[in-house]
Amino acid sequence: MLSPCNCGRESSRQRITFDQHGNALFCICPSCAPQDFADPFRAPSDNKIYSGPQAMPNLYKRGPDDVYRAKDELIADTAALWDEGPTARAIQRKRQERSSLTPEEIEKTKRWGEEVLAPILREQGIAGVVAALNTANERTKGKDAGGIQ
Ligand SMILES: [Zn+2]
Repeated sequence: MLSPCNCGRESSRQRITFDQHGNALFCICPSCAPQDFADPFRAPSDNKIYSGPQAMPNLYKRGPDDVYRAKDELIADTAALWDEGPTARAIQRKRQERSSLTPEEIEKTKRWGEEVLAPILREQGIAGVVAALNTANERTKGKDAGGIQ
């Protein structure tokens, strides 16, 4: 959202200073005070992608070869996250949004293909298979995804 600054220009980023009574004293924006908006990590709204050293300069060291390397504390924090594994919420979400089939579902679907669709294909051809699939789809509509019963 853009709103006008004291300098007259519009910006999505502003810093407004208030007095002790809550009245706005003055406003600055990246146009009139670029030095106050130099920290890139505080600018998620500008849709730029920042590298680790840009976003968290305190967690990286610049080597003599001009390459930034993560400090030990960042490596330790990242390793700790790996050890922790996914959260219960992430696991739950993954289960809900799962798009692959379980081995049981694959086996069930294979059996359905061999026991139901294969005979229809032999007797009625592909038109019979299409009709059977349409019927199966009608039956499973409204139920959970996963289809064939
Ligand atoms: Zn301004």
